[in-house]
Amino acid sequence: MDTEGFRTHGKEMVDYICQYLESLSSRRVTPSVEPGYLRPLLPDQAPQQPEPWKKIMDDIDNYIMPGVTHWQHPRFHAYFPSGNSYPSILGDMLSDAIGCIGFSWAASPACTELETIVLDWLGKAIGLPDDFLSFAEESKGGGVIQTSASECVLVTMLAARAQAIKKLKQQHPFVEEGMLLSKLMAYCSKEAHSCVEKAAMICFVKLRILEPDDKCSLRGATLRQAMEEDQAMGLIPFFVSTTLGTTSCCSFDNLGEIGPVCQSFPSVWLHVDAAYAGNAFILPELKPLLSGIQYADSFNTNPNKWLLTCFDCSTMWVRDRFRLTSALVVDPLYLQHGYSHSTIDYRHWGVPLSRRFRSLKLWLVMRSYGISGLQNYIRHHCQLAKKFEASVKRDTRFEVCNEVKLGLVCFRLKGNDKLNEKLLSNINASGKLHMVPANVNDKYTIRFCAVAQNATDEDVAYAWTVITEQATELLEAQNM
Ligand code: PLP
Repeated sequence: MDTEGFRTHGKEMVDYICQYLESLSSRRVTPSVEPGYLRPLLPDQAPQQPEPWKKIMDDIDNYIMPGVTHWQHPRFHAYFPSGNSYPSILGDMLSDAIGCIGFSWAASPACTELETIVLDWLGKAIGLPDDFLSFAEESKGGGVIQTSASECVLVTMLAARAQAIKKLKQQHPFVEEGMLLSKLMAYCSKEAHSCVEKAAMICFVKLRILEPDDKCSLRGATLRQAMEEDQAMGLIPFFVSTTLGTTSCCSFDNLGEIGPVCQSFPSVWLHVDAAYAGNAFILPELKPLLSGIQYADSFNTNPNKWLLTCFDCSTMWVRDRFRLTSALVVDPLYLQHGYSHSTIDYRHWGVPLSRRFRSLKLWLVMRSYGISGLQNYIRHHCQLAKKFEASVKRDTRFEVCNEVKLGLVCFRLKGNDKLNEKLLSNINASGKLHMVPANVNDKYTIRFCAVAQNATDEDVAYAWTVITEQATELLEAQNM
C-alpha cells in the first residue's frame, strides 16, 4: 500500500470503525460460532500474491466479525470495561505511525518524557502521595506504563525479591542464594487476582493466600497472624499484594490496617493492585477508598480498563524507582547513551526491552476529556450500577451479593448454585446480554458490570428485563 492507498483506505477505515461502534446494538453481543469455525473459511497458507484491499475488508465482514465478541456493545456486562475512545484510537494510530521503540531516553526522548509527565498527571489526579511522582527534583518515585496489571505485580514482586535477597546475603554471606530464596514468603488475599499466584510461580517464591473477612476484605490481624506464624517457622515475609477493587466482587482490602502490619516487619514491600478501581480515585467522593496508600511501596491501575484508553496501558507507580530498577538493570554497551545517568531509561522498569509510545493515547484521552469528563464518565457508570442494584433489591427472588461501591454488581437468584449457573447460561446463550460468574463468599454469583462508554439507563433497564424474563422462564420450568 502506498501513501495514496493509505490515505484512501485509512479514511475508509475510520468510517468503518465509526459505523461499527455506532451500530453495535444491532449485533449479538457474543458470536454464535463453535471452536474451530475459522479454519475452514480461510486458506491454509498466506497468499503468494498481493490481494486487493476490498477483498480483505470483505473477509473481515464475512469471516472475522461473525467470530468477534463485542466488548464495546451496550449489552456487554462481563469482566471489567475494556477502555476505548476515539482520542485513544487516534493516539494509538499516531504511535504506530511514529513507530519508535522507547527503551531508553535517547531511543526517543519524547516517548520517555511524555510517559513520565502523563504518569505524574494521572498520579496527581488519582491522589497518590507526592513521593510516587517524579516532578519534584529530589523525588525518588515515578510512574511507568506496563502492558498489564499482571506485569505490574510481577515486576514489583521481582523488585521486592531482589531487595530481600540482597539484604539476606549481607546478613548470611556464606548461605547459598537458592537457600535464601526458599525462605521468602509473599502474601495476598484469596480475593486477589490470580496474577499474584502466577507472579509467585515465576519468582520462585512461596505465596500464602489468606482468608478475607465476610466483606471479602483482607484485614490487618489476619495478615499479622500469618506473618508471625511464618516468621516463627524461620520463613521471611518480604512482599504483600493487596487489592483495591477485587476482580470477583470489587471489594477493598483494608490498607489502613495492613500498612502498619507491613511496617512492623523489616523490609516488607507493600503493593496495591487497583487495576479497575484505581481509575475511580480521580473522583473526589471516591478518594476515601484509597486511604492507607501512604503505607504502599507501589500502586497500579489500568486506564485500559476504566479510563477510556485502549489496551495496553497499565500504569504503575513506585515510591523508590531505584529499588525497582536495581532488580532489573542489564546494561549492554549498545543500549547505553550519553545521558544514561541523568535520564529515565524505561527498559529498566520492566521485563521487555522494546516499548511502544503508549503515553500518547493516554495524553490524548486526558486532554480531550479533561479530568472532569473522565470523572463524569466513571460517575455515570457508578450511578448505573446503583440503578441495577436497586432493581435487583426490588425483586424478592434475587439477592445482591457485594457492596456496590463502583460499577460492579454481583447478584444471584435465591436458590442453589446450579440454578444460578443455568440462569447465566440461558442469558448468555440468548446473545442478548453477556455476563460472567464469580464466586463470592463461596456462592456462585453473576457479575453485572457497567461497561459501555455511553451506557444509558435504558441499557440497564433492558438488561434487567432480559434477566427477569429468563429467571421467570427458568423458575416456571422448575416448578412444572
Ligand atoms: N488485578 C485485578 C484486580 C484485576 O481485576 C485484573 C483483571 O481484571 C488483573 C489484575 C489482571 O489484569 P491484566 O489483564 O491487566 O493483567
